Amino acid sequence: MLRRSAAFLLFLLVPALVLAQAPASVTSFNGTSWWNHVKFLADDSLEGRDTGSEGLRKAEAYAVQQFQQAGLEPAGSNGFYQPVSFTQFEVDESQSSLALVAGGKTTKLSFADDAYISSRATRSSTQLTTPLVFIGYGLQIPEKNLDELQGLDLHGKVVVYISGSPADIPAALASHYQTQAERWKALRAAGAVGAIGIPNPASMDIPWSRIALNRNHPSMDLADPDFNETAGMKIGVVFNPASAEALFAGSAHTFAQIAALAKDRQPLPRFPLSVSLDARAEILSKSVESANIVGKLPGSDPALKDQYVVLSAHIDHIGIGEPVNGDRIYNGAMDNAAGSALVMDIAALLKAHTEKLRRSILFLLVTGEEKGLLGSKYFAAHPTVPLPSIVADINVDMFLPIVPLKILTILGLDESDLGTRAAAVARSLRVKPIPDPEPLRNAFVRSDQYSFIRKGVPAVAMHVGFEPGSPEQKIFKDWLTYRYHAPSDDVNQPVDLQSAALYEEIVCRLLVDTANTTARPEWKTNSFFRRYATQ
Ligand SMILES: [Zn+2]
Repeated sequence: MLRRSAAFLLFLLVPALVLAQAPASVTSFNGTSWWNHVKFLADDSLEGRDTGSEGLRKAEAYAVQQFQQAGLEPAGSNGFYQPVSFTQFEVDESQSSLALVAGGKTTKLSFADDAYISSRATRSSTQLTTPLVFIGYGLQIPEKNLDELQGLDLHGKVVVYISGSPADIPAALASHYQTQAERWKALRAAGAVGAIGIPNPASMDIPWSRIALNRNHPSMDLADPDFNETAGMKIGVVFNPASAEALFAGSAHTFAQIAALAKDRQPLPRFPLSVSLDARAEILSKSVESANIVGKLPGSDPALKDQYVVLSAHIDHIGIGEPVNGDRIYNGAMDNAAGSALVMDIAALLKAHTEKLRRSILFLLVTGEEKGLLGSKYFAAHPTVPLPSIVADINVDMFLPIVPLKILTILGLDESDLGTRAAAVARSLRVKPIPDPEPLRNAFVRSDQYSFIRKGVPAVAMHVGFEPGSPEQKIFKDWLTYRYHAPSDDVNQPVDLQSAALYEEIVCRLLVDTANTTARPEWKTNSFFRRYATQ
């Protein structure tokens, strides 16, 4: 306790001196208290913290207790809590079917092996038979004069696309336009009634066998219909790339050709397919209640204390699912007990140093991230402090301290000077900052920072990184293949506590730097996301 407080004070008072002398291993953290929080949150008794579950309620009660011990003030709408209402959707597969129709012949598809109905995109029961059109990546990006829908008749049709983007589209822009909301806006305007997405085999985090295993896990959306991003969409299907040749039968193209082009981010051909889709979907729905948790550490500067730096992490995970090696509990230790634990750990560290902080800090643990960034979306639409007073969001999700921290991936590095500051903090600790090395994975829009970005708030998310082609890259790839959204993302996996401690140090310094620097972070003038800034 003494050592980490001492180190903390030193960096506040004489940062340049300390930074010049400190080896990368010297931090205010040691990883132990962080890991103890992870152990609580990822315990089997919390049953994977699914949104709306008793397990998540227990996790949130623990978080509130930690926030209270850290001396935070309640900053939700009901004490530390901000209640959020959801609607849950589930496909009744026994009453549903998918088939391809060509030349009067109908070929039934297997939900497990070929394609399944996504309840995230199919919100009410439906029955339809419609022609299919392949639309490449299916992107309409006016900033880059890309319009893959141009010249195609999509009225009343279901489109087929492969995830990914052409190489000349910057990663953040490509990610933004691949969100369900942005995709559907363009497709709906073009008259489409549904979509079949084929995951790009070159960027699949989870193998199809595991995707298919939990395909029918219920999805959710915010109960308020204002948040519906897929109005008018009758059917949404996810197609196994290994079965996707069937979609291209009778066309002049093969899926193998298309996948090879998409792997290299080449432009793709677009054309009507010879097969039609025959779909019947039976959707069950019900109401679910959950909550975000919000705590506040007040700043001390009269001119700045009514401004807030948000440190956010999602505390929900995906709950109980189909067993893998006999284990049904998806503990979510790295995803994202790790990030929630960090928020609690940093709150505890900052407790003794409130006089040093000029702006206030908002500690935010959101629900419903795994259901589509829903808790953060709700918070960003109904913030418990005025939106213009939020100067930045530092989001922590699955930062993966599974190798020593020598390289830090910063999502949003080139978008705002929050990214620039994050890079400077990393360098000061002899950690090399890099932009997203795997733009095809769309990580920039896949966690809660995106909810803030859409409201104009500069944001970053950082992960323990690797050099492309290094042995570490394989460790991360294997982690995604075997542990990501699997029951083995639990506390029995290898973890590097020093790496976690150094990561915490970087987040903490960035937080303090953002709270204390007079100028608030700004979007870069050439950032696409600048358009969302309200001031
Ligand atoms: Zn996740």
